Amino acid sequence: MEDVREESTKENTTEKNTAAKGAEKKAEHRKRIRNLKKMIIGVLLSLLLLPTILSVVALGQIHQLNTQLNQSLLILADLSVQVQEVRRIAEENNSQAVEMETNASNPVEQIQQNTLEQTEVPADPYENMVKVCLTFDDGPSRNTDAILDVLASYDIKATFFVNGHPGFEEQYQRIVNEGHTIGMHSYSHVYSDVYGDLDGFAQDLDQIQSFVRDVTGAESVYYRFPGGSSNTVHTMDMQDCISYLDAKGITYFDWNVSVGDALGYTRSVSEIVESTMAQIRALDADTIVILMHDAPGKETTVEALPILIEKIQALDNVAIVPITEDVTPVHHVIR
Ligand SMILES: [Zn+2]
Repeated sequence: MEDVREESTKENTTEKNTAAKGAEKKAEHRKRIRNLKKMIIGVLLSLLLLPTILSVVALGQIHQLNTQLNQSLLILADLSVQVQEVRRIAEENNSQAVEMETNASNPVEQIQQNTLEQTEVPADPYENMVKVCLTFDDGPSRNTDAILDVLASYDIKATFFVNGHPGFEEQYQRIVNEGHTIGMHSYSHVYSDVYGDLDGFAQDLDQIQSFVRDVTGAESVYYRFPGGSSNTVHTMDMQDCISYLDAKGITYFDWNVSVGDALGYTRSVSEIVESTMAQIRALDADTIVILMHDAPGKETTVEALPILIEKIQALDNVAIVPITEDVTPVHHVIR
């Protein structure tokens, strides 16, 4: 009996084990199914969400591309405007070049026209007339104002070859301010100093040029040698002095008519007028330079001046002018 019970117990135990194993398997099976369902749902969700996400991303990129495209179109429009502007300028330049080319169709004429424009200088109004220059040496003096008054009353310009005379600053200034030419006649007019040697000549020249500049502000470029360039009061080679003046850009003037007011005696007014007019009539020259003196004791020169002016003005084709670069220099010494 005991064996039967044992057998029965064993059978019961075995049945119980078998049932437990079946339940375990079923639970595992359900778990697998759940997992499988989760996986399927996950896959399904992924399949549904992915296109949406991709669409959103794509839309963002499309928007960005659209913005870039708009910017590019704006830049392109700007470039187009710039290209049109460059083309317009190029066309303008081209038309100007054609115009210039047309104007310069005759290169010689063009060069001549340009040269004329660049070098045009006022024409000499007395080019075809006999020029008479009234020149006054040795001043200024107490006679200068009277001489300037006479010249002003006839509206005539003359030339004053001055020495250094401190105290007459007003007269130097009047000469320049009233439009006359101021020339130099050495500072000292002392022959031994002016013509001692070239250094002495240069020093004296610098002194009178500086003096005139300081008093009047004018730069004198004309010179008259004391005694003239043909004087015989010195042993210097006058050519050295002339070369020195040339190097300084200074032009010297002698004379070809003299009123004779420095002959050691006082000439009367009529003597001055008759002698001077006789010399002028006898002279066959385009330029007449008359030597006079603006010095104390030369009162008859001042008195003769208006008469001389009127007689000269009465001559045909004659103009009384100051010394300028338009006047051909009169020289005693021919270089
Ligand atoms: Zn003199």
